[in-house]
Amino acid sequence: MAEVVLRDVCKRYGNYNAVDNVNLTIRDKEFVVLVGPSGCGKSTTLRMIAGLEEISGGTIAIGDQIVNDLPPRERDIAMVFQNYALYQHMTVYDNLAFGLRNRKVPEDTIKAEIDRAVDILGLRDLLKRKPRELSGGQQQRVALGRCIVRHAKVFLFDEPLSNLDAKLRAHMRLELKRLHRRVETTAVYVTHDQVEAMTLGDRVVVMNNSRIEQVGTPWEIYAHP
Ligand code: ADP
Ligand code: ADP
Repeated sequence: MAEVVLRDVCKRYGNYNAVDNVNLTIRDKEFVVLVGPSGCGKSTTLRMIAGLEEISGGTIAIGDQIVNDLPPRERDIAMVFQNYALYQHMTVYDNLAFGLRNRKVPEDTIKAEIDRAVDILGLRDLLKRKPRELSGGQQQRVALGRCIVRHAKVFLFDEPLSNLDAKLRAHMRLELKRLHRRVETTAVYVTHDQVEAMTLGDRVVVMNNSRIEQVGTPWEIYAHP
């Protein structure tokens, strides 16, 4: 079970409340999209779940564990960034293997995990390439592959499609949806794109001015505003 539960979560930068008393329960295997205007606190919220930002108040639980004081690598999460964050000097295979090698996973297990991920993502012919020899969509697939091989219970996405052109973005939206059905993971997805929110979200969380303004299914949010 990998519920993510935020209770009275706050983030202050000096006197400024970037995230103000956020309460939210993301259910096991649910795909939740955080939307809202630039600067409303979406990315900060996601980064607190990831452990990349300290929280100023409240608690965050992943599964049955309060994670407030856990570093990112001890949380059962994997994160995909807007800029892919791939290692440019490494092949696709080594990029996929990197996180597992860090954790001293045996090479034959790594190979089996990568086999599974490249089948899901259609990367088999690209394993020997370097990231710069890939298209934007292919690079983003490698970034997704790094999450899949980790078997993380929670995937965190920070505007993962916003660097892609419109056509590729539409294609990757569908791929992400399909991927989520296949790997059955809890997902928290930050975007300012309404179409992404409508297509991907089981539920949509609308943030504004550092707070949650509305929570509902895409239908509830966009058909009955
Ligand atoms: P969003 O993802 O919704 O665009 P963010 O969560 O990135 O918004 O930012 C929320 C607010 O917090 C913004 O006003 C931003 O300027 C501010 N902020 C983010 N990071 C920092 C920081 N390191 N120091 C000061 N203010 C920050
Ligand atoms: P991997 O996710 O490939 O296992 P690491 O083990 O090196 O990567 O990273 C540990 C944690 O650091 C990860 O859980 C991830 O959330 C975070 N992290 C990875 N890359 C970045 C990055 N470019 N910027 C910020 N945080 C990152």
